[in-house]
Amino acid sequence: MIVAPFKTPSNGRQHVRFSVFSLARNALRGHQDWPEQWRSPEPKASYDAIIIGAGGHGLATAYYMAAEHGMTNIAVLEKGWLGGGNTGRNTTIIRSNYLWEESGKLYDHAMKLWQNLSQVLNYNVMYSARGVMMLAHNVHDIQVFKRHIHANRLAGIDNEWLTPEEAKEFCPILNVSKDIRYPIMGAALQRRGGVARHDAVAWGYARAADALGVDIIQNCEVTGILRDASGAVSGVETSRGTIRTKKLGVVAAGHTSVVMEMAGVRMPLESYPLQALVSEPLKPIMPCVVMSNTVHAYMSQSDKGDLVIGAGTDQYVSYSQTGGLHIAAHTLDAICELFPVVRRTRMMRNWGGIVDVTPDRSPILSKTPVPGLFVNCGWGTGGFKATPGSGHVFAHTVATGEPHPIAAPFTLDRFRTGRLIDEAAAAAVAH
Ligand SMILES: Cc1cc2nc3c(=O)[nH]c(=O)nc-3n(C[C@H](O)[C@H](O)[C@H](O)COP(=O)(O)OP(=O)(O)OC[C@H]3O[C@@H](n4cnc5c(N)ncnc54)[C@H](O)[C@@H]3O)c2cc1C
Repeated sequence: MIVAPFKTPSNGRQHVRFSVFSLARNALRGHQDWPEQWRSPEPKASYDAIIIGAGGHGLATAYYMAAEHGMTNIAVLEKGWLGGGNTGRNTTIIRSNYLWEESGKLYDHAMKLWQNLSQVLNYNVMYSARGVMMLAHNVHDIQVFKRHIHANRLAGIDNEWLTPEEAKEFCPILNVSKDIRYPIMGAALQRRGGVARHDAVAWGYARAADALGVDIIQNCEVTGILRDASGAVSGVETSRGTIRTKKLGVVAAGHTSVVMEMAGVRMPLESYPLQALVSEPLKPIMPCVVMSNTVHAYMSQSDKGDLVIGAGTDQYVSYSQTGGLHIAAHTLDAICELFPVVRRTRMMRNWGGIVDVTPDRSPILSKTPVPGLFVNCGWGTGGFKATPGSGHVFAHTVATGEPHPIAAPFTLDRFRTGRLIDEAAAAAVAH
């Protein structure tokens, strides 16, 4: 499904469409002539809309607002560098086998957009549908996963049950012996699930949005939200001065509560550190993604050969991007038991990101009580997979002022009315 193919900018800026010909031409010139992939403009005095946060979701929102809603006088404000938040810190797992119909529609919308995102953005996001397998270690896991499989099948989303032997066949390095702490009793497999290169997703959306005229302004922290006499949004205070706008989309992940507080809106969010690790590069040993919610460990292998390993959230709320060492150590215990072949592998790096967790573990894509203020947050431990879908439906919400039908159930108001979308069982610590 093509949504909006990459467009060459009409403003006369030097721009190169990536192709085998441009690659060959630039190779002959020693790769000296590639233009910058996006501009670094000075902020204008005002914009038709502003997005706070240049993570994947914020950049995708700006891109689809420009590509599908013709809004090109927009800015994305980023306090650090684009993609430096959770977008550049996650373990890149993509799947759509969530429990409830509302979630299935949202995550599967994203899954469909992933299929040809590289072509649409003219940027290789390295999407690889290598299959995501979720391990069951006890009777409760089996019941929960089978319930998901049945619910997903009814909703037209692929998800299948594997015996331990079938799981081993799918991932040969898996330890399916019965004498480990949490023996594997089966697995749920989504074959369309997989991974993508997280930085490339941010860069691809940034480049395509910039080509359509969107100003991406890095090192520009939003420090205040301005409101007019009627209470509606009228602009933002930033570390680079005041910028006027009547439409503001907050897409700030773990710092959403801090930003929304600037407009006096209290969010139903808690922010926790979530950690990941990568190993030294190895020859290809792992053909798929394996997740275990019960023992809190996830692993895949990047195209560089590193094992990419994810942990569960820290137990305490915090804005520290390091996280507790015992969480990472516990994750590696579990990894060594599930994949004994990697026991002597060295870990190269460990880091954390701040994830924004809602009480029902589902995201918020919503209008707010403040006219002109919209919010996209609550993706917690699992929003990378939703990046294209989230940006696509949130762009509609901000551009038209009304929620996209897929986003409609994910209101802020559900925490007042009680119409929750409870994905805790599916996504408590999962990705
Ligand atoms: C270790 C880890 C592993 C994960 N693994 C997975 C996974 O395997 N699969 C999956 O689907 N999801 C995963 N996630 C979750 C996923 O990374 C996030 O849900 C997703 O990337 C959120 O994207 P975003 O664009 O909303 O946020 P971000 O990329 O964090 O972007 C928000 C941006 O807002 C900026 N910002 C904040 N405050 C301000 C301000 N005042 N002014 C200006 N800018 C501001 C930040 O600097 C940041 O760049 C993981 C997360 C972590 C931390």
